[in-house]
Amino acid sequence: MSTVGVIGSGIGGIAFAIRMQLLGHNVTVFEANERPGGKLGLLEMQGYRFDTGPSLFTMPHLVDELFELAGKNPRDYFNYERLPEICRYFWEDQTRLKTVEDPAETAQLMAEALQEDAATVYRYIKEAGEKYNIVSDLFLDDSLHKFSTWTSKKAMHGYANLHKLGLFQTMHQSHRTTFRNPKTVQLFDRYATYNGSDPYQTPATLSIIPHLEYNLGAYFPKGGMVEIPNALVRLAKELGVQFHFGEAVKRILCDGNKVNGIQTNEASYDFDIIASNADIRPTYNHLLPTELRPNKLLNQPKSSSGVIFYWGVKRSFDELGVHNIFFSEDYRAEFDAIFKKETLYKDPTVYVHISSKVAKADAPAGCENWFILVNAPANSGQDWDELVQRCRQQVIEKMNRILGIKLEDYLVAEDYLDPRRIESRTSSSGGALYGNSSNNKFAAFLRHPNYRSAVKNLYWIGGSVHPGGGIPLCLSSAKIATKLFQENA
Ligand code: FAD
Repeated sequence: MSTVGVIGSGIGGIAFAIRMQLLGHNVTVFEANERPGGKLGLLEMQGYRFDTGPSLFTMPHLVDELFELAGKNPRDYFNYERLPEICRYFWEDQTRLKTVEDPAETAQLMAEALQEDAATVYRYIKEAGEKYNIVSDLFLDDSLHKFSTWTSKKAMHGYANLHKLGLFQTMHQSHRTTFRNPKTVQLFDRYATYNGSDPYQTPATLSIIPHLEYNLGAYFPKGGMVEIPNALVRLAKELGVQFHFGEAVKRILCDGNKVNGIQTNEASYDFDIIASNADIRPTYNHLLPTELRPNKLLNQPKSSSGVIFYWGVKRSFDELGVHNIFFSEDYRAEFDAIFKKETLYKDPTVYVHISSKVAKADAPAGCENWFILVNAPANSGQDWDELVQRCRQQVIEKMNRILGIKLEDYLVAEDYLDPRRIESRTSSSGGALYGNSSNNKFAAFLRHPNYRSAVKNLYWIGGSVHPGGGIPLCLSSAKIATKLFQENA
């Protein structure tokens, strides 16, 4: 039996702690904040409840799997519902579209609203599923940094189908040749933002992402997204995992290139095994000796961040659903602003999530809790006070213009996050939401490994390492790291 210290209680860190405790090890989690969840945060103000981070929950079976592994019924801990509607889309010229959980119906709705060929849309969604299966064989369940992964039977299946993945085209190029209406192209291009990338640079392989919503479904947990880490921490504690909240790790202790302990703001602890759920950059910059740094990986561009407004709105709007997108008129200029100029576009795309549409308790009666996300560059010292104020005004004007309302009259509570605040609250480098960007095919597939033999006994979990950011991939990182630990043991 080994003693295991985990740095961080993000979704990946908690999942790793559960898996290792279930293998019979003695796990302790150190979390700098007073509560678990990392980016899955909670904000409550004046009767409104907000999830401060993720709003879209896909692949819930990956959470259920952890309870099942422990021999528990997930429904005794955690419940969720499938949303019948995926997203409502709004364009400046008053084009509107609703997409739903059924791919055939969505294809029909796109044919009506966007004059798209329904058969093409349907085929595209189904092919996204086929591509997903190829990629997951190659990439989502195993370390890509082991020779055996590349020679396995699953990998052979992947290679045979590699030509279907669109590795040599950008996502935008692929969509432009598939769809006739630029609005459909824009709609499917937006899925690049699900891992913080630019559709004009990221490989078309990322077109697998719509599969998660349209074929597998979008979900919302009872009690909000924050219930995902809360329920998992309940399980972990029952299994015997120890949590030290408010105890930041200051140093990973090493004997040469082998880690053997942790020094926190309170004490030093010996461990046989350590796992970092913190972003790779602060882990290398502040916790480990400099000679162990993989400089090339650390210098790769970061994924996008966001400016997020949390608005208590004292009215309800029937024209809005749980997820809504108000598109910018020039997507190319918007992504160039974020990734090349590192600033906000003058009239950005606005994502509005209203959980009170499904969870009435999230807002007072007749009111709504608006979570507004505008994609933004990672923090590199921009004047965020000025950018956030300007952005707030642009968002209000855009919503007023498209919905024909005067939003200012209904805003009764507000708060916000910007890349600076995300960075300081979760230690993610630059406040990037998904670690490094996937703006080229190598960055997409060769992220930081879950284990490096150059730093023995240290495992890596979470959004900045393989296989990537977002709740499902962070859960996969914990699974892969556990597998690597078993192989190394
Ligand atoms: P993190 O959440 O990054 O947590 C890391 C934890 O480690 C933090 O709690 C931090 O305090 C702790 N830590 C760091 N350093 C130390 C230290 N030295 N000592 C102790 N503790 C430390 N994903 C989706 O799937 N769907 C979405 O809709 C979605 N939307 C998002 C919207 C926003 C606004 C944000 C911010 C993220 C969104 N994501 C979404 C991404 C998703 O939240 C992340 O990919 C995922 O939650 C990251 O989990 P993680 O395991 O990497 O840990």
